[in-house]
Amino acid sequence: MKHEQEKCIKADLHVHTVGSGHGFSTVKENADAAIEKGMELIAITDHGPSVPQGAHNWYFWNLNHVPGIYKGLTILRGCEANIIPDGNPYESRWGIDVADIVARRLDYVTIGFHPTTGFDEGDEDKNTAALIKAMQSPYVDQFNHPGNLIEFPLDVDAVIAAAIEYNVVLELNNSSLNPLGARAGSKMLEIEFAAKAYTAGATLSINSDAHHSTGIGNVEPALSYAKEYGIPIDAFLNTDAKRVIKHIKTKRDRPLLSTCQEKTEPHDEAKTSTPQ
Ligand SMILES: [Zn+2]
Ligand SMILES: [Zn+2]
Repeated sequence: MKHEQEKCIKADLHVHTVGSGHGFSTVKENADAAIEKGMELIAITDHGPSVPQGAHNWYFWNLNHVPGIYKGLTILRGCEANIIPDGNPYESRWGIDVADIVARRLDYVTIGFHPTTGFDEGDEDKNTAALIKAMQSPYVDQFNHPGNLIEFPLDVDAVIAAAIEYNVVLELNNSSLNPLGARAGSKMLEIEFAAKAYTAGATLSINSDAHHSTGIGNVEPALSYAKEYGIPIDAFLNTDAKRVIKHIKTKRDRPLLSTCQEKTEPHDEAKTSTPQ
């Protein structure tokens, strides 16, 4: 019998590769694993340069070499940028470690707090201000593992309101529920955050945060907890690839994505009227 998430969640919007330094699969291995699981879309979201072994900005700039469509699977070329304090060297006006000129050409820009990047003192006001500033970037699409409130406390109501105002997706991160994971203590906070965000009307996603290809598309037990907390599966953006693409285009142009779609859409009038 197939797992429920294989029937219902067709896109994984938070996936790491060897490019993160502490990920263990290649883009190709992740893509093949996603296809095997019947998924329609993955977003490659490697860590930004502020965490140890994080990818350089050149890595993200160069993601246009990764095909946007691979054996029918849509691959969003993205990042998991770190929220970092003012005065950063990355030429981002929004306090993240992926430069604006890089972020604007990516298909999917996610952000998150991580240890060692300037927010380890646990100052709620400082964290909330930095996050809301980053959310105002026209290039930021998603805030990752928001329930990690023990390490990085936030004004939850203010964050949810800002996510709605600035059209930023709030993630329910399945890895945060892993008792052996980096955020094991945040398990129920992650679910409660999602429930609160759902009630407030925010856009949600549910993702694996896989660091190995075998974890792609794995959203259990998060999905079961979500149901228990009254969040229907349809509340999550990533029930199908078309829904994801439609949503991200409400925010800004996607230069890489439009290039790959031109190649794959057969109903282009200009092309059909041009002699071979
Ligand atoms: Zn993360
Ligand atoms: Zn991650």
